[in-house]
Amino acid sequence: MKLLIKYGRLIDPASKTDEEFDILIADGKVMRIDKNITKDDAQLINAKDCIVVPGLVDMHVHFREPGREDIETITGGCKVAAKSGYTSVCTMPNTNPVIDNQALVRYIKKQAESGPINVYPVAAITKGSLGQELTEMGELIEGGAIAFSDDGKPVMNSTTMRRALEYSRMFNVPIITHAEDITLSGDGIMNEGNNSIFLGLKGIPREAEEIMIARDVLLTRLTKGRLHVAHVSSKGSLEIIAMAKRDTIQVTCETAPHYFSLTDDAIAEHLSMAKMNPPLRTEEDRKAIIEGLRNGVIEVIATDHAPHLHNEKMQEIAFAPFGIIGLETAVPLIITVLVKENGFSFIQAFEKVTTNPCKILGIDRGYIKEGAVADITVINPDKKITVSEDFIISRCKNTPFMGRELFGKVEYTICNGEIVYPFN
Ligand SMILES: [Zn+2]
Repeated sequence: MKLLIKYGRLIDPASKTDEEFDILIADGKVMRIDKNITKDDAQLINAKDCIVVPGLVDMHVHFREPGREDIETITGGCKVAAKSGYTSVCTMPNTNPVIDNQALVRYIKKQAESGPINVYPVAAITKGSLGQELTEMGELIEGGAIAFSDDGKPVMNSTTMRRALEYSRMFNVPIITHAEDITLSGDGIMNEGNNSIFLGLKGIPREAEEIMIARDVLLTRLTKGRLHVAHVSSKGSLEIIAMAKRDTIQVTCETAPHYFSLTDDAIAEHLSMAKMNPPLRTEEDRKAIIEGLRNGVIEVIATDHAPHLHNEKMQEIAFAPFGIIGLETAVPLIITVLVKENGFSFIQAFEKVTTNPCKILGIDRGYIKEGAVADITVINPDKKITVSEDFIISRCKNTPFMGRELFGKVEYTICNGEIVYPFN
């Protein structure tokens, strides 16, 4: 099948291209990028008023398979991702069982084969993510794991983390840290501050996150390993990471759209629908996250897409699980908050969901170039969407953005040269 994308504004962060070009796709690859391409035998994609970006990459999703297929499956999650403009996702290993052996990594890859997009499994750092015994990292990489994380939980034992980082150096793969000192966060529900006092809810101090980032940065310096910090939420965390980068310690990080869009004011309004870990912080933190994205201290935007069933999420806030869905609101929040409200260029905004995560993970995707795999997303940045029960196709609708009107509509998602959204 041949596809011809015409009249669009090509945004390729890898080559810093921001110019109108037509793109011809054939046999799963980008054949030609040029002005005014005509090709009668190709299916025309009219990208007028749209930006044409590399297929988006989300390096942090939770698809609940194996174990809780009633919440979300790998192919179901991939369909949601395709609708959201994503052509590659990294699935976190905190399923049941935890992805801690080669057979399970192969199972994820196998399940993903019938889905519309690319899936890269992240495997556990420790067996069962119990924080004790390291997994067989070499075997897991052989099976297709591209990074390691005990996400959902921290590796509390510093020696275990040290060993993991030593292996990360040996295998040249990132260790993704869920930075949380659980002795500090305890059974906290939301950010510790004025709002938690006012609402009478147990707080999680920002230091629970910052202390673990500081420890992991120091262990990375010690081991010369590779550290990637998941879901950074606080201003102090960014100060530590910026310091580490000045010392040329190999640390990268990601934040999630909710941390640059919301503050803990959202808890009073949305209760458990705004409960996630790490928690939403204050306006000062939100502004620092936006500046971190602007100045490059934060390389990646990942969604931490975490579906939960309605009845599980709609408990008393103390008992409700942490996490919100994030795939379908990611592009609209990036466009609305970063581009429209904070003056980011499209290149600045979209490098965080294309070339940057690919570089960190060693994935040869995330750019648009002649001869390269055709993973491409077409977005109309001026078209409005309303986050509604109909807009959200995820089985789970746990989002604090319900009812919000945002800019940025994904029009087409093309993965490996095939249109995977709109669904046919
Ligand atoms: Zn996490």
